[in-house]
Amino acid sequence: MSSCQPKAESDCGFVQNVYGQRISWKQKLPVAVQISSTVPIKLKSAIYRAALTWEKKMGQKAFELTEENLQQNTAQSSLPGRDKKNGIYFLNNWESDKKSEQGRTSVYWAGDEIQEADIRINAADFSYYNENQQQLTTAGNATVKNSAGYSFEALVLHEMGHFLGLKHREDGGSVMATYLAAFSNRTELAGVDSENVRCEYK
Ligand SMILES: [Zn+2]
Repeated sequence: MSSCQPKAESDCGFVQNVYGQRISWKQKLPVAVQISSTVPIKLKSAIYRAALTWEKKMGQKAFELTEENLQQNTAQSSLPGRDKKNGIYFLNNWESDKKSEQGRTSVYWAGDEIQEADIRINAADFSYYNENQQQLTTAGNATVKNSAGYSFEALVLHEMGHFLGLKHREDGGSVMATYLAAFSNRTELAGVDSENVRCEYK
C-alpha cells in the first residue's frame, strides 16, 4: 500500500487538486492583499465591504487589506503576476479575445495550499459603480462596448470567492455564478456560499 496518496475530500464548492483535496489558504488567514493604485478611489470602499461580507460568514478575518501608495508621481503601479504579493488590479488593458470576461482571479498553489492569488478586474470593456448606479467609472480611454454598468462590490465579492478557493456554481443564487448581470447588486452571500466557505474555513 502506498501512503503518498492523500485522502480525497468532498469539494464543498472548492477547486480541488489531483488528489481531490480542497485547495485553500488553510491556516494562513488572514492574508495580506494590496489594493493596487490602479483602483479608482471612488470604488475602493466596495472592496472593504466585499471582504467584510465574506468574513462575517466565515467568522474570521480573511483579508488584511492595504493600499498601494506610490511615493512619487513617476513610480509605476505594480502589476499582477507571481511576485509573492496578493493584489487587486483595475486594468485598462485586457486580452482582445477575452472581452466578455469581467474579472479573473489567478490562484497559485502547492499541494493543497494556496501560495498567492491576484484579482484582475477588466476595466477596459466594462464600467463599474460603487453605491450610486448613476455614477459609472471606467478606465482611462476605455470605449466600453459591453459597459452597461456593473456593481464593483458584486464583482469583487465573486472574485474574492475565487481568491479563497471557490469555483463557479450556477445554482442556489450563488455569488459564484459565472456572469454578473448589468446593474445586478449581488452583494449578499447565498446560503450555499456561506455553507461552502465554512466547510473549509472553520
Ligand atoms: Zn468567476
